[in-house]
Amino acid sequence: MEIEIATIGGYEEVGRQMTAVRAGDDVVIFDMGLNLSQVLIHDNVETERMHSLDLIDMGAIPDDRIMSDLEGDVQAIVPTHGHLDHIGAISKLAHRYDAPIVATPFTIELVKQQIEGEQKFGVENDLIKMDAGETMSIGDSGKVDLEFVNVTHSIIDAINPVLHTPEGAVVYGLDKRMDHTPVLGDPIDMERFREIGREGNGVLCYIEDCTNANKKGRTPSENVAREHLRDVLYSMEDYDGGIVATTFSSHIARVKSLVEFANDIGRQPVLLGRSMEKYSGTAERLDFVDFPSDLGMFGHRKSVDRTFKRIMNEGKEDFLPIVTGHQGEPRAMLTRMARGETPYQLDDGDKVVFSARVIPEPTNEGQRYQAEKLLGMQGARVYDDIHVSGHMNQEGHYTMLNALQPQHIIPAHQDLKGLSGYVNLCESEGYKMGRDIHVSRNGNLIQLVD
Ligand SMILES: [Zn+2]
Repeated sequence: MEIEIATIGGYEEVGRQMTAVRAGDDVVIFDMGLNLSQVLIHDNVETERMHSLDLIDMGAIPDDRIMSDLEGDVQAIVPTHGHLDHIGAISKLAHRYDAPIVATPFTIELVKQQIEGEQKFGVENDLIKMDAGETMSIGDSGKVDLEFVNVTHSIIDAINPVLHTPEGAVVYGLDKRMDHTPVLGDPIDMERFREIGREGNGVLCYIEDCTNANKKGRTPSENVAREHLRDVLYSMEDYDGGIVATTFSSHIARVKSLVEFANDIGRQPVLLGRSMEKYSGTAERLDFVDFPSDLGMFGHRKSVDRTFKRIMNEGKEDFLPIVTGHQGEPRAMLTRMARGETPYQLDDGDKVVFSARVIPEPTNEGQRYQAEKLLGMQGARVYDDIHVSGHMNQEGHYTMLNALQPQHIIPAHQDLKGLSGYVNLCESEGYKMGRDIHVSRNGNLIQLVD
């Protein structure tokens, strides 16, 4: 059976991920993401009003025109998890394919909300839920199957899809870290990865998440970030002024830790900001997390400002607002607070906890610098970097290579410089660039079996 891989997006950048795998007559698309930094640069554009081709030209969504060179029918669009660089272009591109979107329940719910929020493109693909550990048949040949393997990442319900073909398995490895003690959900299913490496024809190809490929050692478990956060918040137990925290809204495990520790130090947590309400509300509704029944979540500006007023009236020392704005995004809640645009007054000595790291990208770095300066000017004390990455460092990559023993490797989710550490690691394990390590660019086809 012919096996061909189209590296469509996310092979020159971190963002707008999209990869297609053809096995005989059947094609499966993995991820359809947005490049957020391209959207941030064009601050005033409303992407929901733009045409797909304009968004492609702007570098915001994957340039999927290469798909017409793949001879086969798209049978499924498979987003691996709910981050926007993996699902953000579905509402703008999926309507071009007559195929269902297959994902885990939390991811499907986020895809559904995104499609509903952007009706312009008329995306009407069927939405199919499949859990980690399950398998479905692809196409009519009876020879190709799609399996979801549970992985751990900075969002719940993440999987690595595996396409089983007569030539071996194609494992799509985006995005994960190797977490054996995640705060929410199951540990990464390494046992299954090892089995896939051994069974049948083994692994034909491994497409790897190289976000942290140049970082040595091991990415710590979410449990480490949780203990760090506990230490920071418990140290503030006797402070009788304002404490504000921010983190990735989609990072439900982290939000859960913040909520718990706020309660532990005698403060009422409250989630503020549109995306805080969206992700945590969705996770709670789908029973992925058990928040206290009186936990307030407010998204609309009016209800947020009303909550801030209430906090000011009742006393800042009794509350812990958990807000959007960890990257200093201009319209996010923390940035509005820093500019003095909300009823919440920051005073000398008030604490601001960033349970996040700045995404190393110039737009973010500039915005975050500004937000922090503004907070500092109001007297706030900043606690930074209480975080662990959602992506594996080199020792995770080493462990995965040993588990899967792939014949071919395609590094992804980085630019050339970012991939280099992974290529070096693979070469030290006996692979060779150009022979079985395929460093690609956006818009290339790689023929693995013909
Ligand atoms: Zn991700």
